[in-house]
Amino acid sequence: MQQAIQSISLFLGAVEKNKRFDIIICGGGAAGLLLANALSNETAFKHLHIAIIEKEEKNTNDRTWCFWEEGEGKWDEIVSNSWGKALFKAKGYRSEFDLAPYRYKMIKGIDFYKKLYPLLKKNKNMYFLQEEIEGISSNRDNCSVRTNATTYSAPRVFSSIPTTKFKKQNQFPVLQQHFIGWVVKTQAPIFDPKSVVFMDFEVPQKNNTRFMYVLPFSKHEALVEYTLFSKDLLEDKEYESAIQAYLEDKKAGEVSIIEKEKGSIPMTAYDFSQHNTANLLHIGTAGGWTKASTGFTFQKSVQKVDQLVAFMKKNKPLKDFKQKSKFNFYDLLFLDVLAKHNGEGSLLFKQMFQYNPPKRIFSFLEEKTSLWQDVAIMRSFPIRRFVSALIKRLF
Ligand SMILES: Cc1cc2nc3c(=O)[nH]c(=O)nc-3n(C[C@H](O)[C@H](O)[C@H](O)COP(=O)(O)OP(=O)(O)OC[C@H]3O[C@@H](n4cnc5c(N)ncnc54)[C@H](O)[C@@H]3O)c2cc1C
Repeated sequence: MQQAIQSISLFLGAVEKNKRFDIIICGGGAAGLLLANALSNETAFKHLHIAIIEKEEKNTNDRTWCFWEEGEGKWDEIVSNSWGKALFKAKGYRSEFDLAPYRYKMIKGIDFYKKLYPLLKKNKNMYFLQEEIEGISSNRDNCSVRTNATTYSAPRVFSSIPTTKFKKQNQFPVLQQHFIGWVVKTQAPIFDPKSVVFMDFEVPQKNNTRFMYVLPFSKHEALVEYTLFSKDLLEDKEYESAIQAYLEDKKAGEVSIIEKEKGSIPMTAYDFSQHNTANLLHIGTAGGWTKASTGFTFQKSVQKVDQLVAFMKKNKPLKDFKQKSKFNFYDLLFLDVLAKHNGEGSLLFKQMFQYNPPKRIFSFLEEKTSLWQDVAIMRSFPIRRFVSALIKRLF
């Protein structure tokens, strides 16, 4: 036993000294942890030394992830709420619908970190380094990761460190899904705990795409989020006064704020994969795994990680990991239209919900529809805008 401990510590010393790993995962957020977890479940990777470099302690509830899913899912154990119904509202249109066969599920960031960090730390081949990454460079058969402490290297590096490269180009418009959300407790029972408010466009649009998103936990408690799909962020007070106005309009009575969250998620058809190399692959939002037209990333990352792990077993250059599909082109056109006519977002979404069954919409947004279903969705949009965007892109 003593000998075993001695050889393990000798080996750990060697890895630390060489600062060389088989795999380095940069960023221990959603995508990084999903990837580390998937690798830990595969015997093919158990003998590899894997480092996860994350600058934060990840001990706060820094975000709430929601996604829709059919039947049981891998992360049900930490799903803290789920809903079977949803509401969509826009000027002159209201639809409350059953989400079947899906349920809309919610995971608190903190529950995800609390589950995954201790679980992954049990793996003797995984090394958790709390350091700040300052640069990543890739050369022919190696990749170096420079942190505030030292430099590590590995033949395969996966990075979810946020990038701003997409802001320095003008080939693709860049919108943001930006929001502030309050978890509130209200005096009056104004929420329906069975139904999530997916999009409520009955708020002043001010020439943008602006809506309320409400996750109700009880008749008195909910996460109420004022969200925009637009180019420029607002002052915090503007989001917050919109939430206040919404709650007043619903006659909430006295309101206590339990928690706040804030986010800004890039919405762009920019080709993030151009920065991948044979030994460096960008993952998560930094890898273009955010659905450009909606900002949803979590469930897509779950799916991408499964595909990636299968791909890694083939030992091919990382840049060959296929990421593109017809949906990238649809998102590109949608964002071209939304960027140019930002005040028309509510109309675009309204027509999509008005003319399509919810199952088709959610499966389209999940990138699982057939060509004829895609055509049905597209026919519901104002055709002139999209034809003009298509012509511009083609010629
Ligand atoms: C408030 C909020 C709510 C969201 N809600 C949803 C939702 O409901 N559904 C959905 O699908 N998506 C949602 N998203 C979008 C998306 O799912 C999340 O942003 C998701 O966390 C993206 O995963 P990621 O791994 O790419 O990035 P992250 O989870 O942000 O992970 C990146 C990690 O890298 C670390 N890091 C950054 N810089 C460095 C550095 N220099 N050195 C070391 N570490 C570094 C960060 O601390 C972080 O832990 C939300 C985003 C936010 C911000």
